[in-house]
Amino acid sequence: MLRDVSLRVTAPRLAVLSAVHQHPHTDTDSIIGLVRDELGTVSHQAVYDVLRALTTAGLLRRIEPPGSVARYEARVGDNHHHVVCRSCGTIADVDCAVGYAPCLTASEAHGFVIDEAEVVYRGLCPDCSVRS
Ligand SMILES: [Zn+2]
Ligand SMILES: [Zn+2]
Repeated sequence: MLRDVSLRVTAPRLAVLSAVHQHPHTDTDSIIGLVRDELGTVSHQAVYDVLRALTTAGLLRRIEPPGSVARYEARVGDNHHHVVCRSCGTIADVDCAVGYAPCLTASEAHGFVIDEAEVVYRGLCPDCSVRS
């Protein structure tokens, strides 16, 4: 994947990619923890730099649900949406069909050329709705 986007393959890049693949919608602190589990000492800054490079290259998608810290996922390019639990913050994917994103059709585009849309659904996840 890294070679496909002309990025040099480095241990931190591989560790960050695999961490996000295995833990979708993970925040930066958790990613740092996962990368350290695998590589030992890695600086915050190194992980931030890797996240930025991978996001810019399109291998990771950065999402920032309102009221949440930035989170990263490896499912890119399909303009899918998210449902966020109001209580525990759990995030799940809500599909937009791959290759065709009906949500991009805004009722009024105001002359903008729109290439992305993000809908955040909110509610209670199954665990939290049982508890309440
Ligand atoms: Zn919940
Ligand atoms: Zn997602």
